Amino acid sequence: MAYRLQCDSCDLESEYTDWADANSDASDHEAEYADHWVSIVDLQEA
Ligand SMILES: [Zn+2]
Repeated sequence: MAYRLQCDSCDLESEYTDWADANSDASDHEAEYADHWVSIVDLQEA
């Protein structure tokens, strides 16, 4: 599985293969920028 972080307020875009890593970085980003909202997108491979 692969996951991508997308922020609604900046150009943050990172890809992860591990949900825990993605979730951890999303939390860090939201902690650093309190008004940003990060979505974790599931990248489905065909
Ligand atoms: Zn952001």
